[in-house]
Amino acid sequence: MIINADLHIHGRYSMATSKNMIPDVIAPQAKLKGLDLVGTGDVLNSKWIQILDETIEETENGIFSIKNERRKENTRSTCKFILTVEVEDIKRVHHLMILPSFEAAYEVKEALRGNLDSDGRPKVRMGALDIMDIAHEQDCLFGPSHAFTPWTSLYKEYDSIYDCYFEKPDFLELGLSADSGMADHIKELQNIPFLSNSDAHSPWPHRLGREFNELNVKELTFKEIKNCIIKNKIKANYGFDPQLGKYHKTACTKCYKVFNITEALKNKMRCTCGGTIKKGVDYRIYELSSWNKPHHPPNRPPYIHILPLAEIISLVYNKGVTTVYVQKIWKELVQKFGNEISVLIYTPLDELKNNYPELISVIEAFRNKTLQIQSGGGGRYGKILLVNDNDEDSKNDTTDNTLDNYFG
Ligand SMILES: [Zn+2]
Ligand SMILES: [Zn+2]
Repeated sequence: MIINADLHIHGRYSMATSKNMIPDVIAPQAKLKGLDLVGTGDVLNSKWIQILDETIEETENGIFSIKNERRKENTRSTCKFILTVEVEDIKRVHHLMILPSFEAAYEVKEALRGNLDSDGRPKVRMGALDIMDIAHEQDCLFGPSHAFTPWTSLYKEYDSIYDCYFEKPDFLELGLSADSGMADHIKELQNIPFLSNSDAHSPWPHRLGREFNELNVKELTFKEIKNCIIKNKIKANYGFDPQLGKYHKTACTKCYKVFNITEALKNKMRCTCGGTIKKGVDYRIYELSSWNKPHHPPNRPPYIHILPLAEIISLVYNKGVTTVYVQKIWKELVQKFGNEISVLIYTPLDELKNNYPELISVIEAFRNKTLQIQSGGGGRYGKILLVNDNDEDSKNDTTDNTLDNYFG
């Protein structure tokens, strides 16, 4: 069976996370988004474990569902959960762990050093290899989160994945600012499966499931999910156009001015505004590249670019993305056409046309790849530009936006 899985989110006790990040809200929202399986996030945190304990129960081996008595009539169909946590190691590198059971979570928690209850995403006072060993002893899956971002990733710290883990991790999470077209420039990643996850801090549809993995499994159990990931039977990765990611381009973290790397280095990574310039994921991947064109290994699944539909609705009608107005249109379209991916990619335009014509013309532009995007960088997300957008500054940024530019 084919399932859509978003394996990296955070619960309400993680820093800067919405109070609505609780299973009772996440599960029905995820289902609307078209997800079948979501990571619980934060499963080493005591307060979060308590919430999970109250709201979900194991229904298949290593797979959890909202407890029956908590389900409302209109939300009977909800997504399922798998236990996950993101941890930060002693070098401030982030790793994602996918766990088979609460027992495993208690064992892992026991073995890790650090104040694991201080945040949903704990800081562990240990190196990556030691943490990975503990995870593997408990049959968990383990690999780097958002591997190329400039603050807390594997490649901000190391030039090789083996300098960090010394052996092959189970997967690499691409992060919002990269896709497999970019990451497959790097030779050492050829035999490593890629995951695309949302890292959502809020349950609303422009965050939850904004990236996900299409997995082919015989049955929905932890064992099958594990098997599917380590044997790289991932059917497809769905995710942002990397330009929309927060760290795609080299840019100032204070005023978000985009810099070309030579200029940034000449200024010693200092912006004229006094802010710090952070190297973009596109340039970091260029530095790590072995080839000037992506070399996709035979079992690398397609990477399908998507956009958050709610964000497009918000842009077209000039209303906040979490407003009732935007959410109502989003829900109507998603329910009518099955799910968001169907609206964005698969439903014939003729069938969509009678609904919100202004909106559908933007979806058409997206499908024809004529939609303009202003690249993200320095911690600010990229932006979709509408045809009538008269912001000249932002248009200038759209000219230099692919990795190819570095190879000349
Ligand atoms: Zn992280
Ligand atoms: Zn600046």
